[in-house]
Amino acid sequence: MTIQWFPGHMTRAKRQIEEKLKLIDVVFELLDARIPQSSRNPMVDEITGTKPRLVLLNKADLADAEQTAEWSRYFRSKGLATHAIDANAGAGVKDLANKAKELLQEKIQRQINKGMKPRPIRALIIGIPNVGKSTLINRLAGRNIAVTGDRPGVTKGQQWIRFGGELELLDTPGILWPKFDDPVAGFRLAATGAIKEDVLHLDEVACFVLKVLVESYGSALKDRYGLEGLPSELPDMQAAIDVLESIGKRRGCIVSGGHVDYEKTATLLLRDLRSGKLGRMTLESPEFTD
Ligand code: GDP
Repeated sequence: MTIQWFPGHMTRAKRQIEEKLKLIDVVFELLDARIPQSSRNPMVDEITGTKPRLVLLNKADLADAEQTAEWSRYFRSKGLATHAIDANAGAGVKDLANKAKELLQEKIQRQINKGMKPRPIRALIIGIPNVGKSTLINRLAGRNIAVTGDRPGVTKGQQWIRFGGELELLDTPGILWPKFDDPVAGFRLAATGAIKEDVLHLDEVACFVLKVLVESYGSALKDRYGLEGLPSELPDMQAAIDVLESIGKRRGCIVSGGHVDYEKTATLLLRDLRSGKLGRMTLESPEFTD
């Protein structure tokens, strides 16, 4: 699903989430564990306000486990609780009710003190397109339901999905827009498939990916494509093109005349990255600024 985000759509998306916030106790902010910063909406703090929030690092099965731990530490340092999950296979998903309960401990205790029986915690999933919102909702629902969200122009009666006795989830997630004004975030989003490649040039995205991989995951890259003499960093675009060319040659991505087909090679590299065939990789590290 690709959405063309225009200012009107952003305003509407923001308003729709603000409406839903009135119905819920806790926000599950879904991020891509491979690019936790780049997959964050730039206005998420403002939009969610003071509502308790749990940051879910989804697609953790594809991310570097050490980096996921670093990111959790980073978010904790910013006062945000995190939990790593794999919505596809379900890892970590069954802990969600308990994690939400931990966040709302004081509120629940107040209800108990007043002699009230705590009602199920009501949650809303929010995140940018392709981060795994529908997958998580389906996983919690235990069946495939048509998740539409509030795409501009699409409306649907919203319902609660019961998960165990303690958690209820709104079946229409809040869809947020990704970062637009940071070109590096754009490359990261394209590399993971969060935004369509036609927004950026495929071979440029591949060169960006190669730079990160050479610097952080060189041996995985070497092993996958049988590369020799791989440098420890790629100082410029030409150096990245040289590596792309070596991969193309190794994989037989050749056009007539014997030249490497860069586009085909780039597609192959990105497919391998996204499917995890290159190994578990994270494309950005947290910067502890304070
Ligand atoms: P949405 O646009 O946020 O609703 O995203 P989707 O739920 O449609 O997921 C986008 C893609 O990511 C789909 O191909 C999912 O199968 C995949 N996906 C979602 N969660 C995970 C996960 O935890 N691990 C992996 N490997 N893939 C996932």
